[in-house]
Amino acid sequence: MFCTTCGNIFVMYELTIIGGGPAGVSAGVYAGRKHLKTLFLTDSFGGQSTVSSGIENWIGEVNISGNDLAKKLEEHLRAYSAEFVDIKPFTFVNKISKIDGGFSIETNNGVFESKTVLVATGSSRKKITAKNADKFEHKGLTYCASCDGPLFKNKDLVVIGGGNSAFESASQLLAYAKSVTIIHRRNEFRAEAITVEKLKQNPNLKIILNAEISEIVGEFMVSGLKYIDKNDGSEKEIKCDGIFVEIGAVPNISFVKDLVETSANGTIVIDPWNQKTSVEGIWAAGDCTNILYHQNNIAAGDAVRALEDVFVHLKA
Ligand code: NAP
Repeated sequence: MFCTTCGNIFVMYELTIIGGGPAGVSAGVYAGRKHLKTLFLTDSFGGQSTVSSGIENWIGEVNISGNDLAKKLEEHLRAYSAEFVDIKPFTFVNKISKIDGGFSIETNNGVFESKTVLVATGSSRKKITAKNADKFEHKGLTYCASCDGPLFKNKDLVVIGGGNSAFESASQLLAYAKSVTIIHRRNEFRAEAITVEKLKQNPNLKIILNAEISEIVGEFMVSGLKYIDKNDGSEKEIKCDGIFVEIGAVPNISFVKDLVETSANGTIVIDPWNQKTSVEGIWAAGDCTNILYHQNNIAAGDAVRALEDVFVHLKA
């Protein structure tokens, strides 16, 4: 396509996949095998899991580090990319706009055009901002109970947060931890009452309410934390071996949020039957979408569903 403003001639890709995590790569492998002329844009490979030292629930691998998973994903994609998938790593998408016959995709590596787009950019964990929180990340403070929890067998652990994820993580951790203390900033939980009541039956669960985390404590590894008790304003300290932060996530969709419908928590609204967004020609899959559970395996499957639907849309 010829641009009358800049004079450039653009290749019109059939599909552009944005995101190099399990969702984007799964779609990319399928796209390559189906011979779709595809552009693959990602800042990096592996998604959120790259931070994990050992992932034990990626099906087909008993235990794999986040870095190894990222390498395997990239390797798998490249094995099918030679002719049909143009991979552009280190690419950040700034904006997607509707144009005649498709979409214009503005990035730090140039502007591209594509008939269809699959958004698979995942989300980033919301981080706590307490003193020393960044210093102790991966040194006892972690954002993934299912990835890192088993490393803390028979330890005293803290889960920060009051939503369903906090309770789900606490439930997982209680299977092998000595104790789990949930610390929440209000006196009411956001998590479902039935979940809260069920977990409260566990004698190894403690709960601290109305507590604002002020500092993570430790020398080389986490040894405790300090919090402001909002009941009386005093600062208190508890000892613990590990801290699991579950205070929600922020979907990485700023480049498309003004184009497609989004949910109250900022995820892209999709039709779970086919992964279509509110805009014809744009699909989305994985953690950036408004599905119930966010997991690598689910993201991969959802992206394959999207890809199948893109293929039908382009070729039927
Ligand atoms: P969420 O529901 O947004 O809950 C986040 C929790 O973290 C809230 O209790 C919030 O406190 C607290 N929080 C937020 N920012 C904080 C901060 N800076 N410092 C301390 N605490 C902070 O997030 P989520 O638990 O990750 O769940 C996300 C979505 O997935 C929800 O819709 C949830 O229902 C769903 N989910 C469902 C299941 C299930 O059904 N089995 C499991 C997991 C997740 P406030 O309450 O004061 O805002």
